[in-house]
Amino acid sequence: MPEFNGMLRSKLPQAGTTIFTVMSALANEYKAINLSQGFPNFECSPKLVSLVNEYMKKGFNQYAPMQGIMPLREIIAAKMQDLYGATYNPEKEINITAGGTEAIYAAITAVVHEGDEVIIIEPAYDCYVPAIELSGGIPIYVQLKAPTYSIDWEEVKKKVSHRTRMIMINTPQNPTGAVMTEKDMKQLDNITKGTDILVLSDEVYEHIIFDGLKHQSVCRFPGLAERSFVVFSFGKTYHATGWKMGYVLAPEKLMKEFRRVHQFIVFTVNTPLQYALAEYMENKDEYLGLADFYQQKRDYFIHLIKGSRFKFIPASGSYFQLLDYSAISKEKDTDYAIRLTKEIGVASVPVSVFYHEQLDNKFLRFCFAKTNETLEQAAEKLCTIK
Ligand code: GLN
Repeated sequence: MPEFNGMLRSKLPQAGTTIFTVMSALANEYKAINLSQGFPNFECSPKLVSLVNEYMKKGFNQYAPMQGIMPLREIIAAKMQDLYGATYNPEKEINITAGGTEAIYAAITAVVHEGDEVIIIEPAYDCYVPAIELSGGIPIYVQLKAPTYSIDWEEVKKKVSHRTRMIMINTPQNPTGAVMTEKDMKQLDNITKGTDILVLSDEVYEHIIFDGLKHQSVCRFPGLAERSFVVFSFGKTYHATGWKMGYVLAPEKLMKEFRRVHQFIVFTVNTPLQYALAEYMENKDEYLGLADFYQQKRDYFIHLIKGSRFKFIPASGSYFQLLDYSAISKEKDTDYAIRLTKEIGVASVPVSVFYHEQLDNKFLRFCFAKTNETLEQAAEKLCTIK
C-alpha cells in the first residue's frame, strides 16, 4: 500500500495500543501464562450459550430497539430494586450497551464539553482519559493512597472547581481491587450536593466483592443516583467478556443525552444475546454466588504464592490481585512485567500504566479469573523467583 502523504493530526497523540492487548500478545508470543488481561479462561454457562442459540434459531436476528429489548430492561430494573432499593424506569432510565467501555464513552461524550474538568481517581482504568480528551475535557487527577488505596476526599474537594463537570468513580476498583465504603459514598454525596457535578460510576465488578463487604452502588444513595450514570457489565458477571454486553442506568434527563450519543455510536446491540440474558437473569443465584466463587479463587491464588517473595494485601473486590515485587527487583514495573513474561512465563499488567505520570510503585496486577490449574501453574513459576 502506498503511504498517505497528506497532513494527519492525531486526536490521541499520546495513545499507544492498550496495555491489555500488548501484554496478551506478549503472553501468546512467549507462551506465558496470561494473568494480564482481565478475562476468565473458563467457559461461561452452557445453558446461557444454548439460550443464545435458541433465540437465534427462533429468528431473533434483526436490530433490537436502540434502548435495548424491554424484557432485559425490565429484569434489570427489578434487580436494581432488589439489590440496591433503587427505582429505575425501564422505559426511560435503562439502556443496554456494547459493554461497559461503550457506556462510559457514550456517557462522557454526551455531557463533557470543551474545557470541562473531569475528576479521575488514579490508578484509573485506561479508557477513561481518552474519552474525556476526545470530548475536549480536561482530566483532573486524584491519587488513591497506597497501600489501602483509599480516596482522600479532602483532596477531591480541593480539586473541584467551577469547571468540574463530572467525577468518575470505580468500585470495586480496577486495577487495585479496592472497594468504596458507605462513608466514601457519603463524602461524595456531600461534595456534589447542591452542585451541577455529575457522577460516572463504573460498577462493572459489582458482584465480585469479598470478606463480607457490601457493594456500595451509587444507586443506594438518592442524592448521588440523581446525578449519576451507573455502568454495569454482563461480561464480568456471566464469564462472557467477549460478548461485549453491558448496560447503563441514569435518571431520565441524563439518559436522554446518553441516548442521543449512543444511537450514533452503535445504534443498538446484539439481539439474541439480549433475549438470552433476559431469560438467564431470572436465576438470581448466578450473580448472587459470584462473590463466593471469586473469593475462593482469590484465596487460592494468595495461598499459592504465600511462599514467594511478592508482598500483597488481599484484594477486596474485582478479579485482580496486586503483587508488590519491591523485595525482588528495582526495575521499572513495565520492564519487570515484560521480563516476567519472557523469562518466568507469567504475564501481568504493570500498574504504572494506569497513572497519567506513570507512577511506579513496583506493583503488578494479576488476574485470578482463571482455572485452579492455571493459578497453580502460574504460582509455581512465581514462587521460583529468588
Ligand atoms: N477490563 C479488562 C482488564 O482490565 C480488559 C479489557 C480490555 O482488554 N480492553 O484487564
